[in-house]
Amino acid sequence: MDFFIIALIFCGVLFSIAGIILAVFLYRNKKPDKTNTTSPKSKYVLSDNSNIFHRPDCPCVKKIDSINLNTRHNSYSTLISVGCKPCKKCNPR
Ligand SMILES: [Zn+2]
Repeated sequence: MDFFIIALIFCGVLFSIAGIILAVFLYRNKKPDKTNTTSPKSKYVLSDNSNIFHRPDCPCVKKIDSINLNTRHNSYSTLISVGCKPCKKCNPR
């Protein structure tokens, strides 16, 4: 009887761990979809008064004045060729 209870608890723990792993896995898979749907227009955000470009979800983007905000760039190689540098915080590629 004791063994049965232990086996039952063991199975319960095993299944709950599997459930947590599955939930985390699904959550991680959903996350990039969210960022893609919120910013489908531009891959990179650039401030007009600096030569550093960011990912749209970078915290630095919130500090950029809306007047200086430049979201027209979509090509990494173009930005590099104009002399822009990727932000070290969000590391856009
Ligand atoms: Zn950044």
